[in-house]
Amino acid sequence: MRHLPEADRDALRIAQDPDFPRWLQQITATGGCAHPVHLSGHTTTLDNATGEILRHYDTRNEPGERLLVRCRNRRSTVCGPCSRLHAGDTFHLVRAGLLGGKNVPASVRTRPRLFVTLTAPSFGAVHRAGQTCRPRRDGGACEHGRPLGCGTVHAPDAPAVGQPLCPDCYDYTAHVLWHAHASKLWDRFVIDVRRRLASSAGIVQSRFAHHARLSFARIAEYQKRAAVHVHTVVRLDGPDGPTDEPPAWGTTDRLTRAVHASAQRVTVRTPYSLATGELELSWGTQTDVCVLHAKGDGPDDDAVAAYVAKYVSKGTDETGAGTDHKVTTCDDIDSARVSRHVRTLMHTCWRLGGLPEYAPLRLRTWTHTLGYRGHILTKSRAYSTTYAALRAQRAHHHGHTDTPDAITDAHWRYVGSGHTPGAALIAAGVAEDIAQNRAAVRDALSAGGGAT
Ligand SMILES: [Zn+2]
Ligand SMILES: [Zn+2]
Ligand SMILES: [Zn+2]
Repeated sequence: MRHLPEADRDALRIAQDPDFPRWLQQITATGGCAHPVHLSGHTTTLDNATGEILRHYDTRNEPGERLLVRCRNRRSTVCGPCSRLHAGDTFHLVRAGLLGGKNVPASVRTRPRLFVTLTAPSFGAVHRAGQTCRPRRDGGACEHGRPLGCGTVHAPDAPAVGQPLCPDCYDYTAHVLWHAHASKLWDRFVIDVRRRLASSAGIVQSRFAHHARLSFARIAEYQKRAAVHVHTVVRLDGPDGPTDEPPAWGTTDRLTRAVHASAQRVTVRTPYSLATGELELSWGTQTDVCVLHAKGDGPDDDAVAAYVAKYVSKGTDETGAGTDHKVTTCDDIDSARVSRHVRTLMHTCWRLGGLPEYAPLRLRTWTHTLGYRGHILTKSRAYSTTYAALRAQRAHHHGHTDTPDAITDAHWRYVGSGHTPGAALIAAGVAEDIAQNRAAVRDALSAGGGAT
């Protein structure tokens, strides 16, 4: 035993514990979560009328007097099992808004639906993969003496891709401030699309909600240059949302035109700063609008949902933009495993975060995301279902239901998180078993010619 690595010895110790079977049940219930949250407490469910105790649960009877629950992190670099679960939920959430299901009527697939990509503007020339990178026959150099062209053909994963040709020419301030205002720019975009639709149909803007409803789900994706792109599903319904047909004027063409025009027009002004002045921010010139056609169970819709889901589960190790965890000091930025370009963005974020005029942007808090605040996935209320509803459905499936006419008295306390080295080993094994079982079921279904 002495020769075994520490983790193995720890795993053996856990497996010999009399509480091991129940502990393993808990680990299995978390799906083999890599960083479970440890809770201590109790919950009692009473019959509202008689006061009779229907159910009582107390962690005092559990191994280590605690209950382990999922960390629910969406990033695969932080927790594989939870990120897979989250990606699955994201897929269903986006898919339901495109094709129906999860309480959304199937008629949504006949509505005007677009998959739109809004880009960030250019903040300076960066190296590109694919074709010859920035060819320039006449050569030439910037004011810092660096070549204006490159001429190399970079592989897609080459470290140079996305890095600026000249870091001194690159507008790091604008890049960070654009990220910090991206959500505001999005809000203005949505308002402007509604406004354009209304005026093109001859409706008073304030009456738009009485005629139609614009629903969306959007994700933020970091490109190689570490600037956020916004991918979004936009759907036009009648005033009541998914259950309601749009008015006759609500056509795909009209929606497409409004989206293009708004993407080119909307702007946001940054607060005035002595250090950086005032910037006018807008979307990049390249707006991609793809019409999703209603041709039954078209592969387009599933592909869009899968694409969104896949992106949402990516951690920063995969995107290379920022870090998975917040930074609290300049030293954290210096020691982060990121490219020079991303490190400069993080330093810029930190520096600008120290200016009082930018305090509302909370740039230091969001240095790890390069100034971009908020969620990777956001959606309007009427788009489809919610993560909470999907989780509740899963709990119901496992028998944890709320009893009507009952009151629940619960007290929970956070007592820790994570695994010991041996527990981590066992949890990883459980997660692998679950993933393999799922793959086996999928294979059996497709081999049997069943629905996939
Ligand atoms: Zn987890
Ligand atoms: Zn290049
Ligand atoms: Zn330069």
